[in-house]
Amino acid sequence: MKVVVLGSGVVGTSSAWWLQEAGHEVIVIDREAGPGQETSFANGAQISVSYAEPWANPQAPFKLLKWLTKDDAPLLFRPQFDWRQWVWGLAFLRECLPSRLAPNIKAMVRLAQYSHETLKQMRQELGIDYDHLEKGILNFYRDQEEFDGSQKAADVMRDFGVDRRVVSADEVIQIEPALAPHRASIVGGDYTKDDESGDAYKFAKVLAQKAQAKGVEFMFSTRITRVICDHGRASAVEVIREDGSYDKVEGDAFVVSLGSFTPQLMRPLGIHCLIYPTKGYSASFPILDPERAPTVSLTDSRNKVVFSRLGNTLRMAGTAELSGYSRTLNPVRCERMSDLARELFADCLDFEQVQYWSGLRPSTPSNVPLIGRTRVPNIYLNTGHGTLGWTMGPGSGRAIADVVSQKTPEPTFPFIGI
Ligand SMILES: Cc1cc2nc3c(=O)[nH]c(=O)nc-3n(C[C@H](O)[C@H](O)[C@H](O)COP(=O)(O)OP(=O)(O)OC[C@H]3O[C@@H](n4cnc5c(N)ncnc54)[C@H](O)[C@@H]3O)c2cc1C
Repeated sequence: MKVVVLGSGVVGTSSAWWLQEAGHEVIVIDREAGPGQETSFANGAQISVSYAEPWANPQAPFKLLKWLTKDDAPLLFRPQFDWRQWVWGLAFLRECLPSRLAPNIKAMVRLAQYSHETLKQMRQELGIDYDHLEKGILNFYRDQEEFDGSQKAADVMRDFGVDRRVVSADEVIQIEPALAPHRASIVGGDYTKDDESGDAYKFAKVLAQKAQAKGVEFMFSTRITRVICDHGRASAVEVIREDGSYDKVEGDAFVVSLGSFTPQLMRPLGIHCLIYPTKGYSASFPILDPERAPTVSLTDSRNKVVFSRLGNTLRMAGTAELSGYSRTLNPVRCERMSDLARELFADCLDFEQVQYWSGLRPSTPSNVPLIGRTRVPNIYLNTGHGTLGWTMGPGSGRAIADVVSQKTPEPTFPFIGI
């Protein structure tokens, strides 16, 4: 079968890889000049199976209200004249109901576990170097009340088979000595030794090269403008090439992995995906003193930011703005990121050479991605991975290849349309 994959982020590229492994002829189309150049480009780099929790939880609405007027809040809601934002917001509130939490966590954890296994297998078989570190994720707390709450969260995750260990402040320092200067302010942490970190962009880039070598065709700098349907089935996508010329790319099946931009192309076909962009920031600092910079991936619970070591760079990421599709960098947020990094690792980073970046997390209200069939029989979705597209991408790609190939995917997950 000839399968056209729409989008070449970490999710689309993984889908393309597994579709060719399943024996299909595969074409990937992306508007950027190469793979992984939008949301997959400079994310927090965590393979965070053990923290695969949704933003939507019973406490979230109260926190959101508290943060509404703070420009540097970790989660910022900026009301827009955009009905899609309001529809999404209402659905988010529904997902905050206590009854929704367990099924959402279960779906996310199952997919994340499967994806992690898939990633390890791909790493081993394909020998992809993406600055990965198998040192776990350490979440550290500087607020006693928050730390006390972490025990409960760890218990919940343990019920889903996740090994999240609550650790004392001294253990935090043992696990990551780079935090030693802050021992006095740290009250404890939780540590998941099985989690990992690594560069999603590098992974997508090398995976695309490997896929190309196996016969997958990549059409870059090519914008998809619409999906053409005949007799209730998709027959082609209309594209604009770099030179401005229009073209059609035909296929037997279409896998849509356009991240935050999925709804725009699907809506005219009556496929309604509740995905809205949540803008996040990252700051990448060159490391001046490798011995004093952390190697364990960290989550600073108070400030809701993560740190991951990628070779000789420390990547810091966080913040979430529901503010539409603009990727403009807010200087207040950038400043705040540098201040937070300076507070923790002042002596070992090059603050002059920091690179700020923003990306649009393709967020569903439940944080559970949309994977599976649609009302148009040969259009499939693999999108809406929100905060955890890198964690879930390789496994999602493998699962959608199974769905397209009429096989039952391995993970227990609420696949759509199945
Ligand atoms: C600040 C931040 C930190 C994050 N940290 C982590 C983390 O630590 N761990 C984790 O697991 N996840 C993290 N994420 C989430 C993760 O980065 C995303 O979930 C993931 O990158 C989504 O991948 P994707 O392939 O679905 O989307 P994208 O990477 O955005 O890919 C979609 C592709 O579609 C293309 N496209 C869109 N529209 C068109 C069109 N009309 N025509 C042609 N091409 C088009 C785009 O060019 C793009 O390449 C983070 C995200 C952010 C923003």
